[in-house]
Amino acid sequence: MKNNQKKNRIFSSGQNKVLCIGGLDPSGGAGVTADILTMSKFGVSAVSLVTALTAQNTRGVYGVCSVDPSFFSFQLETLLGDTGISCIKIGMLYDEKIFDVLIGFLCKLDVFTIWDPVMDSSSGYSLMEEKLRLRIDDVFTHIDLITPNVLEAEFLSGESITSKESMLLAAKSIAKKGCKSVLIKGGHMRGEVFDLLYNSGEVSVVEKERQEISRGVHGTGCALSSAIAAHYASGFSLEDSVKKSSLWMAGMIAGRRGNGCEAFSLLPLV
Ligand code: PLP
Repeated sequence: MKNNQKKNRIFSSGQNKVLCIGGLDPSGGAGVTADILTMSKFGVSAVSLVTALTAQNTRGVYGVCSVDPSFFSFQLETLLGDTGISCIKIGMLYDEKIFDVLIGFLCKLDVFTIWDPVMDSSSGYSLMEEKLRLRIDDVFTHIDLITPNVLEAEFLSGESITSKESMLLAAKSIAKKGCKSVLIKGGHMRGEVFDLLYNSGEVSVVEKERQEISRGVHGTGCALSSAIAAHYASGFSLEDSVKKSSLWMAGMIAGRRGNGCEAFSLLPLV
């Protein structure tokens, strides 16, 4: 089903263009590199802005360095001066100053915005400053869809997630903070695996097979939220965008285990 209730595009543009804002992962598995590759896979062009540089390889993250906030602001203003966009996808924000600049812009834009609230890498390195974690609630009213994993959703909601019921409670409590839709990714849970979308009061669940992620594969969260942004920018409803992207990601991960699905060529091999 195509979606006709898309928010406005800003500035006139005939293109499906998504603005990706996030960290730079030199190993290419996560961050804006993964965003751009994912979008191009779905025929959507991406423009991008980097919030922080990381030092990382396929084994993990070893350091983070923020970009200059006033230059980040200048880049954003320059880019939006002549580039039309139909969706914004935000990933790693890292520091308070970049966060404040971004909120200042989001207040002025009327564009569908997805945020993947990246907090820690799967190798355990902090990708969000403590000071920003304490102010995180300030962003929700500017976000249309937030896509936390279970650990992030527990932090954001204060609920412990152990079942579908508690996941729904957590999603509702995050939505109450001001964003319309919440997708909680259940990959970290024991037992059944599912993603749960709470979308303006409607609930849908995407059931999946349990999959072990191969060593060296990271950035699956970035790619999933980018795939959702790409589908949404192409005119699919939010629910369809989530379902298609969630199943695509499951196929990509399965492909890396060599069981016949398409290989996830976007993620680096060890
Ligand atoms: N580096 C950057 C720039 C990211 O945006 C992310 C996750 O979004 C990561 C590293 C960590 O990826 P993972 O959680 O798969 O370890």
